[in-house]
Amino acid sequence: MTDAERRARHQRLWEADHRHLWHPFTQMQGWLEEEPLIVDRAEGVHLVDTLGNRYLDGVSSLWCNVHGHRVPELDAAVRAQLDRVAHSTLLGLASTASIECAEELIKHVPPNLTRVFFSDAGATAVEIAIKMAFQHFQLRGDERRREFVALSGGYHGDTIGSVSVGGIGLFHRIFEPLLFDVHHAPQPYCYRCPLQKTFPACATACAGEVERIFEQRPGRIAALVVEPLVQGADGMITQPPGYLRTLRQICDRHGALLVCDEVATGFGRTGTMFAVEQEGVLPDLMTVAKGISGGYLPLAATLATEEIFRSFLGPYESKRTFFHGHTYAGNPLACAAATASMQLMTSRRVIEGLPAKVAALTKALAPLADHPHVGEIRQRGLMVGIELVKDRATRAEYDYALRAGHQVCQAARPLGALLRPLGNVVVLMPPLAMTEAELTRLAGMARAGIEQVTARI
Ligand code: PMP
Repeated sequence: MTDAERRARHQRLWEADHRHLWHPFTQMQGWLEEEPLIVDRAEGVHLVDTLGNRYLDGVSSLWCNVHGHRVPELDAAVRAQLDRVAHSTLLGLASTASIECAEELIKHVPPNLTRVFFSDAGATAVEIAIKMAFQHFQLRGDERRREFVALSGGYHGDTIGSVSVGGIGLFHRIFEPLLFDVHHAPQPYCYRCPLQKTFPACATACAGEVERIFEQRPGRIAALVVEPLVQGADGMITQPPGYLRTLRQICDRHGALLVCDEVATGFGRTGTMFAVEQEGVLPDLMTVAKGISGGYLPLAATLATEEIFRSFLGPYESKRTFFHGHTYAGNPLACAAATASMQLMTSRRVIEGLPAKVAALTKALAPLADHPHVGEIRQRGLMVGIELVKDRATRAEYDYALRAGHQVCQAARPLGALLRPLGNVVVLMPPLAMTEAELTRLAGMARAGIEQVTARI
């Protein structure tokens, strides 16, 4: 393709995008005023746009890519599955690909989780966990246990149930009249502690607030829903050590289920296969999506214990069935990609290789620690949030309208990185496959973007 042909094609796609598409989490008025970056293909951990520019995929194509793009083993697995069947249903039928995927998944998850309920997005996996927890207690005759506890700043997806357990005002407040009531406890956001305390002197008082809710509603709480170790979408809010373990103990003391949403943290992002491992926590229900398929195809799963599964057993006429299911649940192409991705994690010893990568990223970000407009750098494994502040001493935030995080990400583009911020937090969440050199380059581009933008705003 000549340069002129490439330009013409880009122009045509740009016009069509602006004519027909409505982009998620995007203010379309601004979008329609700007030239879009159109991803056309990929090479390893790079995305290539319609004009031929290459960028490091700095947020793993929204936190899901694991081994990079166009991985020969994953491509081959999907192609082989295409030669068998692209889709068949799990409603009343089994399929080879979904069985093999469930078998592989069970090898990696905490040992108390034995049952896999497939769906197709993080939000649906959470929706399913909520309904399973609710129905579990109804079926056991514990009908009063129908309430949920979650954390402020939590994010679990955009369907009405998952928004109900979410706690991000900006996204969720407008839908409040549509949501069911959930008890929200203050989040463990140490940099801006909702209780105005300081760790460790606080003795994790925020976990005490969670327990207070349980004490006020004895016998009423069905489940606590949390993102383990890192509240991703609220700005990579990392939890203090011991916090998740304390939540597990609270649930145990009060007879409630612990639902851990590993949609973002799962499949190696925090340095271990699952975040719960780092706190020695066994959840009763666990949700996974994003990285499960290596970032190839939409697949999600809600994992349950045998005890929860058994609550739903009974003769046909007992109507104890879990009446829930999505058309593309356990789609064979997605399952084939997922099985191959998980197998690749084992054969390439991906988890074992993470400490050196995590250390390289930490080191590359260290020069930012003293920057006058960097309030805090939060990192767990390969999940990073760099919180920008107007004033480091007072921790004053940049004005929302300034779009500081967005400007930094825009500035990183011509340098060769694709990033997406969360408000004033610059996020790095690279594919686990990035080399130490690539991670260092990525951090350097983010740093340069931060320096450029904060100098002028
Ligand atoms: N849970 C968590 C913790 C997430 O980070 C996300 C997505 N960012 C979701 C659920 C929702 O996943 P999906 O976008 O696949 O519905």
